[in-house]
Formats: sequence, structure tokens, C-alpha cells
Amino acid sequence: MAYARYKQKCAICKTNMVEMFSARQFPICSPCQMKRINQEIKDPKFKKFFDIGQDLYEKSSFLRNIKEAYLRYDSLTEKQTEAFLKAVEDVKKPREVKEPKPIEFDVPIDSNISMRAQRVAKKAATAAKKVAKAAKLAEDKKGKDEE
Ligand SMILES: [Zn+2]
Repeated sequence: MAYARYKQKCAICKTNMVEMFSARQFPICSPCQMKRINQEIKDPKFKKFFDIGQDLYEKSSFLRNIKEAYLRYDSLTEKQTEAFLKAVEDVKKPREVKEPKPIEFDVPIDSNISMRAQRVAKKAATAAKKVAKAAKLAEDKKGKDEE
């Protein structure tokens, strides 16, 4: 998977933010591009080819781009066709969901929680942004146990 380098406002609605992977990319958000590619395809072969369901297009800018390229040029290269079919499979596959590891706080919390302990706990939570939620739960639980 490629990761977005930065975000830019959609050039059409000028409201939604678009994840940008390269400067050559046209900044267009999913709803705007969906409107653009929601066109009747006359060629029955391509009509069937692009009939993969709205939700897949909503999920993947790659699929939207290929459909848009087809609408613009009325044809696809062999490479685009292959890439499209491969991307359809990739988008269909459910993503692996990794369980976040809970953070273990080895910060001693006594009845008189020091500012330093609070800072350390906060720092730990910030460092592990992805599991911050789990950390918060753990912290809350710790607090409750002491009541
Ligand atoms: Zn937009």
C-alpha cells in the first residue's frame, strides 16, 4: 500500500480533503469523482467490465481513475485492464485487522499522583498513538480499581 504524503483540498468542491500520493495527482475527492464517473457505458463489453459495484469505486481511487481514463479515451490499454482486475481483487479482500497491544504502565500511581507520573503516562500514550485508545481504557480501569 502506498501512503499519502500530504492532503490537499478537492479541486472541485473545495471542501473535502484529498490524500495526495504525488504532485501529478489531480486533487479530487471520492464523492466528486464518483459523480464524474457515474456515466452510462455504451460498449457492452466495458459496461460489464466496469460493473463491479459502487462500493468498490468508493473505496478505491485507483479503480475510479481507471474508469475515468476509460470514459475519457473510450478504451483501456491491456496494462490498465490487468491493473483494474487486480485492484478489484485487492479491494474486495478484507484487510487484516491487527489487535492493538495494550500499553502497560509501569508508572507507580499512588494516592498522590505526581505531575511527573502524569506526564510520563501522557508521553507514553502519545508515543503509541495507534493504541492510545487501549491505553486510555487501561488507565481508566486502573483508576477505578483504586477507588
Ligand atoms: Zn470534492
